Amino acid sequence: MTANPTRVLVLNSGSSSVKYQLLDMADGARLAAGLVERIGEETSRLVHSPLATGGGKREQEAPIADHEAALQAVAAELAADGLGLDSPELAAIGHRVVHGGQKFTAPTVITDEVLAEIERLVPVAPLHNPANITGIRTAQALRPDLPQVAVFDTAFHTTMPESAARYAIDTATADAHMIRRYGFHGTSHAYVSRETAKLLGKDPSEVNVIVLHLGNGASASAVERGRCVDTSMGLTPLEGLVMGTRSGDLDPAVLLHLSRNAGMSTDEIDALLNKKSGLIGLCGDNDMREIRRRIDEGDARAQLAFDIYVHRLKKYIGAYYAVLGTVDAVAFTAGVGENAAPVREAAVAGLEALGLAVDAGLNAVRSGEPRLISPESARVAVAVVPTDEELEIATQTYDLVSA
Ligand code: ADP
Repeated sequence: MTANPTRVLVLNSGSSSVKYQLLDMADGARLAAGLVERIGEETSRLVHSPLATGGGKREQEAPIADHEAALQAVAAELAADGLGLDSPELAAIGHRVVHGGQKFTAPTVITDEVLAEIERLVPVAPLHNPANITGIRTAQALRPDLPQVAVFDTAFHTTMPESAARYAIDTATADAHMIRRYGFHGTSHAYVSRETAKLLGKDPSEVNVIVLHLGNGASASAVERGRCVDTSMGLTPLEGLVMGTRSGDLDPAVLLHLSRNAGMSTDEIDALLNKKSGLIGLCGDNDMREIRRRIDEGDARAQLAFDIYVHRLKKYIGAYYAVLGTVDAVAFTAGVGENAAPVREAAVAGLEALGLAVDAGLNAVRSGEPRLISPESARVAVAVVPTDEELEIATQTYDLVSA
């Protein structure tokens, strides 16, 4: 019997997928990782990486009917590596939960009351919270004795002042329908802002950081001395930056216009703004690598999509600079932020008067490590800081259950 179990299984349950990682918090080692996708379809696929044994990836393609079957398949893969869910070394399961509303300001051990509250938030997170709830229920059934912890995407942003969190609409209507700005990607913003402080050799409470999380979804945040004071996503992850397939900010009257004059239904508008807008809507591609390749070939549509993407990003850097007053660092993270040097260069170009600049040589370096890309003389550090949401979820989960 292990006296102090130190392993945490991190589960990120989507509507048709489950991503997972098993970490050992004694040393931060990643023991296994994988993904089940297309749950409920004929073409379901499980990809498992047995990181502890150093073996190659194992792939299965066979129909997986639902989340329960998916988790059972994951459990079988882990057991085959000697890391089964019945192991006494497993301390907890940490679940990524997208929407925690105003109530959940920190990671929380899941009880029936907590699950009911996550359920109450389904109207503001109709795609995400039901999948998260299914993942939690399934994991509870597999290991009813084990602590299960919810780590909320919104929690880091609950420190936003009301001036940043409220929309300027009728207060009674807003309150009746839970309409306010919650923000998302909070686990990443929390982790990256802390890692940026570390890179500067400072405590998070000593620095102001603008974090730019640029993945397929994208969001910016203004972090003042370790606390989030503004973020670009709002009631849902649709607001803010231009994203892979989402529009980000637009005049809300566009929706009314589409409804009244283009005869589009609510669902059609939803699909247009969430799935057929952003980079893919502008140029037909949402992968920044492909967009850069097209630009290199002289493709004008790809260039315009890139320019719109960067223009919005630059506006948010300026806005959050103003919100913070003084800025110690701007940190780029996630797939685009960590890899696309031209995006970083263009987003900061022309901002020398704000103390912001990128060194071309440093910006071109490819590395998985946190690093500075600003010239040594720059007043504000510009950094690339790889995000690690799984490690952050595991850390928060473990800290809570081992306290
Ligand atoms: P998410 O977790 O939101 O799905 P990621 O953070 O993994 O997304 O980012 C995915 C995006 O990162 C891809 O759509 C692609 O645009 C971008 N990306 C990944 N690698 C590169 C690269 N080498 N150069 C430019 N962009 C990249």
